[in-house]
Amino acid sequence: MKEHNCRVCGLYIEDKPWGKDGLCPTYEICPCCGVEFGNEDYTPESIKRFRNNWIQQGAKWDESRDKPENWNLNEQLRDIPDDYL
Ligand SMILES: [Zn+2]
Repeated sequence: MKEHNCRVCGLYIEDKPWGKDGLCPTYEICPCCGVEFGNEDYTPESIKRFRNNWIQQGAKWDESRDKPENWNLNEQLRDIPDDYL
């Protein structure tokens, strides 16, 4: 299970984005793709739409100062929970 990973971009999030049971989103903003947990990542369709838009616009970090120096988009995308690929 990848309960700690953003459903849109795969970033590891310290506080599980959808809560302990996967049903209670935190409504925090992903520092990488900028999705609001519980909002645009509500359905597999909305997740794919948000992800495609984000990648098309250059996969920019919402919080650019949090971006690791050796960040690799494709590596991170592998950490997207399997149900939301
Ligand atoms: Zn994200």
